[in-house]
Amino acid sequence: MLEFLIFFVSFGAWFYIQSSLWESLFHQYLLDLSPRDRACLFRIRKWAPAIWNIHYDHNVLHHHRTYRSSYVQQFASAREEARLRAVLVKQFDAATVREMTTSRYGATFTRAGHIPFAIPIILNLGWLAVVHGPVQIAAVLCADLIFATPFFIFSKWVHPYMHARFDEAALTAPVPLRWVVTSPYAVAVRISHYVHHCDPTRNYNLQYFADLIRGKWRAPTGAEWSDMVAQGVILPRHRTALEGRRFLLHPF
Ligand SMILES: [Zn+2]
Ligand SMILES: [Zn+2]
Repeated sequence: MLEFLIFFVSFGAWFYIQSSLWESLFHQYLLDLSPRDRACLFRIRKWAPAIWNIHYDHNVLHHHRTYRSSYVQQFASAREEARLRAVLVKQFDAATVREMTTSRYGATFTRAGHIPFAIPIILNLGWLAVVHGPVQIAAVLCADLIFATPFFIFSKWVHPYMHARFDEAALTAPVPLRWVVTSPYAVAVRISHYVHHCDPTRNYNLQYFADLIRGKWRAPTGAEWSDMVAQGVILPRHRTALEGRRFLLHPF
């Protein structure tokens, strides 16, 4: 049991930090590229269409072509969605348009969009060739499952609910996702992610840690707190509990 705990905690800490770092870095250098770097990616899109499409799905569609009139409503009307689909049909082949519609315009993943999120989780399995015996193997597998996957789970399943009003998400998310969505951790991430949409060069992480040590995390401004409460992204009690904190990972 002691052997399991030592390996589980050691690998767990390493896997958590590694996933958080990876998430922060690939958001900065792929999903949320600066306009200058986006121009480079655009030029090579013929040779690497999947990479361009992953970027487009997140940055163009999720950040700029949806949630335009409200942070908590993807489209103001069916006409707005139809207009976007008409633009996509002109720019992409039918299969890619279908993928982007399935990803809910970047609110979750396209098929290829799973790959960058899965990379650290899969690479961690390489440790199975290094450790010895069933106890150590079980510890590595459990650590990978629990500590390397939160950013994947949040990005694929929790993120769409972070763009819903808090009270609505608490009512409509299926159990057990509802427990995650309403947890203090997810409230902190929801606030952090709101800031990411105000300033896409900050708060990349849905799995906390790396943004903070990389100097890429910032707290909401007073106006942003007010807007979050006004739009129902958070409840007034969340603002009371968390406003002014240097980091939001406290109320546990
Ligand atoms: Zn982003
Ligand atoms: Zn978002």
